[in-house]
Amino acid sequence: MRRRRILAAGGVVVGTSVAGAASRLTDGAELVARARDSSDESALETNAETLLSDTVHETTLYEIDAPADGPTVMIFGGVHGDEYNGIDVAREVVDWAPDAGTLVTVPETDRVAVENDEREGVDGDLNRQFPAEEGPASDLAVGIWDAVERHDPDVVLDLHRSLGVYGVHQQYVGQALFYSPGADGESIAATLNDEAVPWYLPMHRFVAHESHLSGPLLFHETARELDAASYLFETTNFLLDRETKNEMTRIATAAVLDRHGLLEGGP
Ligand SMILES: [Zn+2]
Repeated sequence: MRRRRILAAGGVVVGTSVAGAASRLTDGAELVARARDSSDESALETNAETLLSDTVHETTLYEIDAPADGPTVMIFGGVHGDEYNGIDVAREVVDWAPDAGTLVTVPETDRVAVENDEREGVDGDLNRQFPAEEGPASDLAVGIWDAVERHDPDVVLDLHRSLGVYGVHQQYVGQALFYSPGADGESIAATLNDEAVPWYLPMHRFVAHESHLSGPLLFHETARELDAASYLFETTNFLLDRETKNEMTRIATAAVLDRHGLLEGGP
């Protein structure tokens, strides 16, 4: 049984007096357990593919095909290389076991940035390199977009981490789920608030924002060009330790898979 820990930055325990309430097996943990386990794991087909071979950007894409038909979901970690939550969780997702559809994951999307533990790699900020109607704006963006087009996802989830909280700290967008028109950001944010955010961190409740699609972000482009239900997830460094951020990211990822029909027992 997994126990959730909610620690403040610096290791000070927040809410020790309610540790019992926080450490029960939450529905969020059950959701993640459903994503990790399949009724028939021997029927899963897995494949790995090298993107941007023989370049400084070389990185690996992982594909898991479930036996039952379903949508293709594509998950990105490390579009910003210092946002560990997305990288850590995308590396885990490679071993998840969907019951239906296809799960495609790129854990280290900007590999140079990930290796340098920096937001941007040698081609700058990858999440500003998908301008509308112009085509991808760097060698890395071209290579990533080529993989997106080949896998033609129905659903896209890009995993990020901010420094502050939306609406509290100016210019920071933490604890938010941005989504393309027609995607179901509201219900996924509601699931996160029910299953991933303890009551004693009310500032850390997630807000859902339907996004206009005119910007240069990867999830804008997947919605514009492929009509994919597209999500950008942002947790925050503010008061949350690494495992708490990871658990929120894990639950968000499982909630997207569940909402879009990749997990048994889902909608
Ligand atoms: Zn980011």
